[in-house]
Amino acid sequence: MRMTVLASGSKGNSTVISSARTRILVDAGLSCRELHRRMALTGEDPSKLDAIVITHEHIDHVGGLPVLARKLGIPVYFTEGTHRAWVRMVTPRTTMSYGQWLDHMQALKIARAETSAAAAAAANALDPEVPEPAIEPPPIQAVIDAELATKPPHSHRLPPEPEPEECAPEIAEKAQRDPAYLPSLQFFKPGTSFTIGDIEICPFTTPHDAADPCGFVFESEGIRMAVATDLGYIPPNVKAALKRVDVMLLESNHDLEMLRDGPYPWSVKQRVLSRVGHLSNETTAQFLEQEYDGHCTSIILGHISESNNIPELARLAAERALINHGTLLGNRLLLAHQSTPLDSINL
Ligand SMILES: [Zn+2]
Ligand SMILES: [Zn+2]
Repeated sequence: MRMTVLASGSKGNSTVISSARTRILVDAGLSCRELHRRMALTGEDPSKLDAIVITHEHIDHVGGLPVLARKLGIPVYFTEGTHRAWVRMVTPRTTMSYGQWLDHMQALKIARAETSAAAAAAANALDPEVPEPAIEPPPIQAVIDAELATKPPHSHRLPPEPEPEECAPEIAEKAQRDPAYLPSLQFFKPGTSFTIGDIEICPFTTPHDAADPCGFVFESEGIRMAVATDLGYIPPNVKAALKRVDVMLLESNHDLEMLRDGPYPWSVKQRVLSRVGHLSNETTAQFLEQEYDGHCTSIILGHISESNNIPELARLAAERALINHGTLLGNRLLLAHQSTPLDSINL
């Protein structure tokens, strides 16, 4: 089995898990183009991916998802809750209050009047000696459509910036009509294993401020690899899932002091620190020292904050924990990066 962390951090997350026969992308938090670039750098072939599995709907995990899934035409696995939240996120909403509706209708009336006046002025300016086809004012519906298209008046969320799509024309046409369109969609339930090719996947619920967040253990031919990032603390179900794991991508998001003294507004600090935020170096070290079973050949620290952490602080905290544990020699400690992929780990 092989794990390749393409990117890890609040600006984008993506990891390839491969067995002899199957290749799975965990999250697609970089643009489709960047994912292709990083896969090429690490010797992974995007055209050989069998599926994409999604941990949760935060943009750093799904930013490149629709474009990539449509281009590759492969199934995307979500929980139903995560899928619903993702659909809401990428579908522009145009609900408005009565007051906003009145304002909007007034703006439309003005736009229509201006369009009619411009058409009339253009008609008057025509030289009567040279008959030309009369300029019709655009139909009212076209004015309304243009207005809505150029100024979505009260949409709360807009879909992410479109990338040039290189998918099949019929898929592009469906995506045009439905921003949440995916060529193939599969659902899984947290706590219930499922298989893709020859990889068994055990999704486990994580405490995080998303609709239905999950981590995963991937198992093939007796080798187990885990992805556990974006969690506020490590509850018993996660501790249980991380037993007998050979390679683990584990969050070590922030240094507590750096976060407290750092640039984030108070409300964001509270969110990160909360039971549904992110794991601190200290919490991760505590887990490694007290709960971890020492089974891994490699532990990768990931989702390291660029504002509230220094990679060496994360490494030091984990190393100290593992020395106390007496298992450092058996554990290669690696750091996943935001800007560059990590060399593949093969077992
Ligand atoms: Zn994240
Ligand atoms: Zn998240």
